[in-house]
Amino acid sequence: MLRPMPRSGRFDSVLASFALPVEAFRRRREQWLSPAQIAVVRERRLAHVLEAARSAPYYRELLARYDAERAAPTAILAGLPPLTRQIIAAHGLDAFLTRDRRTLFSVTTSGSTGEPAVFFRSPREEAEFSARWWRVYSAYGCGARDTQVNFTRSNVRPRKGMVKLLRRLGVVPQVVNISTADPIENGARAVMELRPQVIGGYAVAIESLAEYAMERGIELARPRLVVCAAMDVTDHCRDVARRAFGAPVANVYVTNEMGVIAWSCPVRSEVLHVNDDVFVLEILDSDGSPVPDGTSGEIVLTSLTLTSMPLLRYRTGDIAARLPGICNCGRGLALMTPVQGRSAHAIRSADGRLVTAPLVAGAFGAAGAYAWVRRFQVREEAQRVLRVLVEPRRAPSETESAALVRQLEALLGAGFTIRIEHVTEIPLAPSGKFQYVVPLDAGRAARPAVRDAAPAS
Ligand SMILES: [Zn+2]
Repeated sequence: MLRPMPRSGRFDSVLASFALPVEAFRRRREQWLSPAQIAVVRERRLAHVLEAARSAPYYRELLARYDAERAAPTAILAGLPPLTRQIIAAHGLDAFLTRDRRTLFSVTTSGSTGEPAVFFRSPREEAEFSARWWRVYSAYGCGARDTQVNFTRSNVRPRKGMVKLLRRLGVVPQVVNISTADPIENGARAVMELRPQVIGGYAVAIESLAEYAMERGIELARPRLVVCAAMDVTDHCRDVARRAFGAPVANVYVTNEMGVIAWSCPVRSEVLHVNDDVFVLEILDSDGSPVPDGTSGEIVLTSLTLTSMPLLRYRTGDIAARLPGICNCGRGLALMTPVQGRSAHAIRSADGRLVTAPLVAGAFGAAGAYAWVRRFQVREEAQRVLRVLVEPRRAPSETESAALVRQLEALLGAGFTIRIEHVTEIPLAPSGKFQYVVPLDAGRAARPAVRDAAPAS
């Protein structure tokens, strides 16, 4: 949620309205640079961010041992310890700010693990966040004047100040937010009335709307783009959305604290483009060592645009792999796999692998279980019991149930007792999000990343 700007920041706010078109132009242009040119831009921005970070007490101490004139920015960055929400909480927010917080927006993230956290950014930085959304929209032929319907968490308040003004002027799109806590009929009605060009939000809400429309034979007005974001995006979700809306479905990796990090290539929908002109994206193993391309690990991010509260080597808890090579769409932005889930929402298999929501959803798909399963949640209990809560479309045959159990056993390895339980409704988490996989140590594994930033202007 975005808090309104205090009076002292209003001037910044006006400046930011000019920054938005400038940043949007840069984001549009930079994606077509070659990887080598992007690396030069990245290095320059990294040097700038490291310099700014020296004004924040936490970083001043860490950076004191480096001579900014002589050490390469990437080498300095590599020497910094990864940052977590717990570290921010332990040092206090002021240790991370380089500016008076009264000139900044505060952004409160709900946290999927129930641990809210506050981040600050300037109106200008906020404008750059919007520019990255524009990069995604324009790649799919959408423009600033397109209407959007967003399915988002229940407590998002309408934005005030600059963004509201720009919306009124028609510079940024009209956005209608619909709470995931509302009945799905409301969402369907809004889509039919507004006929939005962009439909976006939590993947599970998009999936529910798509299922609702298909089951009732409702023809939804065809948008130009469907954005699945902010949660574990499964193949099933994208497939259902593509069929129901007849539009391209983009998987957008976005967090509240970082904005849009990566997004589906419009030409190769199975890979994401990393916004690596404005991020240093590292993939680390559980020891914190970098892994080779093609190997999954935790995404650790350095924002190259946040200088009021620099976030350097920030651990997201999200799992993905970088991919080698360049894309045939012509963009020089690096490639990665879709996010394969979150380490905090994963179960350890018998052989120690992290089994995340997209993998579990894959097992449902392989078993043909979506023919009878509308929605599921897998809960790990003590003594390696796995409760598979299922909202059924219809009663399955014995063969169908057995096929699902077999697929889950194959995924998790021996040693799990799998119990399928039919329920009428799987509740959303208090944050308004849906969690497919609830591990036994969910509380202890609480991790920093938040993926609840819904598509916005
Ligand atoms: Zn591409």
